[in-house]
Amino acid sequence: PRLISAGASSDEERIERAIRPHRLQDYVGQPAVKEQLGIAIEAARRRGDALDHVLIFGPPGLGKTTLAHILAEEMGVNLRQTSGPVLERAGDLAALLTNLEPRDLLFVDEIHRLSPVVEEVLYPAMEDYQLDIMIGEGPAARSIRLDLPPFTLVGATTRAGALTSPLRDRFGIVQRLEFYGIEDLTRIVMRSAAILKAGIEPGGALEIARRSRGTPRIANRLLRRVRDYAEVRGDGTITEPTAAAAMKLLDVDSNGFDLMDRKLLLTLIERFDGGPAGLDNLAAAIGEARDTIEDVIEPYLIQQGYLMRTPRGRVACRLAYQHYGLKMPDRLGT
Ligand code: ADP
Repeated sequence: PRLISAGASSDEERIERAIRPHRLQDYVGQPAVKEQLGIAIEAARRRGDALDHVLIFGPPGLGKTTLAHILAEEMGVNLRQTSGPVLERAGDLAALLTNLEPRDLLFVDEIHRLSPVVEEVLYPAMEDYQLDIMIGEGPAARSIRLDLPPFTLVGATTRAGALTSPLRDRFGIVQRLEFYGIEDLTRIVMRSAAILKAGIEPGGALEIARRSRGTPRIANRLLRRVRDYAEVRGDGTITEPTAAAAMKLLDVDSNGFDLMDRKLLLTLIERFDGGPAGLDNLAAAIGEARDTIEDVIEPYLIQQGYLMRTPRGRVACRLAYQHYGLKMPDRLGT
C-alpha cells in the first residue's frame, strides 16, 4: 500500500497528533508562508479582528491541516473541521456556520470538491458574514438572512486550478506549500524521533529524509517503520545502515520512489514508448484512479524532473530512463 494513503489506524492517528507541531515557530520550513501568515496573525490579533480567509494549496501530506490548526492556536480560537465532499446540502454548511463563535476558524479540507449549492451559500458568508437560507417550499418559500459572527475560513486543496474563480477570489490570503528540501525533512525526522523517544543518528535521519518524496507525512511514516525495524533487527538505534536496510524491505528506492512511482514511470517508458500518454490511458494501464495520479503520484515526479505534463499527455524525462538504467530512444525533434 502506498505510504501516503488515507485510513491510518487509530494508533497511527494518536502518534500523528503527538508529533504535529502546534505553533508557527515549530512548523519546519516554508519560510515565506510562515512569515506572511505570522504577520497576518499578529495584525489581526492587535486589531481584535478575525483572521482573513486563508486558502492553502499543495500536494497531500505537506502540512495544510497542520497549518490550519496552528492558525487557530495562534489566534486563540476554536477550529471546526469539515471537508468539501461531506457538505452535501446548504443546510450542512449553515449548521456549521451558525455554531461558530466570533473569530473561530472553519477548516474545509478538499474545498475544490464543494457542491455548487453549498458554494453559493459560502460566498455571502465569507464576504459579509451573512447567511441566506430558504425556508418553506413552493409558493410559500422565502429567503431569510442571518448575521454570522466574523469568522475565518481556511480552505485546503491539492489543486488550486480546480477551484472556481469566485471562490478563489474570496480568500484574502492564498498560500502554496512547496515540497520540502532534505534539510527541512531531516529536522522534521529528528524532531519527531525526539517526541517518539526513538534513538536516531543524524545519518539515519538524513537517510529517511532523502527518501521521503519531499513530504513530511511520508518522513514521519518512514520514521515509524524504520524505528520498528531498528528495534527488531538492531539495537533500537536508527543508523544510516538500519534505515537503508528497512527501506529496502519497504520497497522504497534510493530516490524515495515506491511501487506506484515505479509502475507509473516504467509503464510510461515501456508501454507508451515514453509518451506522450493521456492521463486516462495511463490510469487504466496502471490500475490507479486518475485523481490519484494527478494529486498524489505525479506532482513529486514532475517537480524532480522525472516526468513532464504536456498538452498531449505525460512524457518520461531523461532522468527517469537513467534512474531505471534504461536507454532513452532517440526522437526526432526532442
Ligand atoms: P496535509 O493536510 O497537507 O495533507 P498534514 O497537515 O496532515 O498534511 O501533515 C502531515 C503530517 O506531516 C502531520 O502529521 C505533521 O506532523 C507533519 N508536518 C507537516 N508539515 C510539517 C512541518 N512544516 N513541520 C513539521 N511537521 C510537519
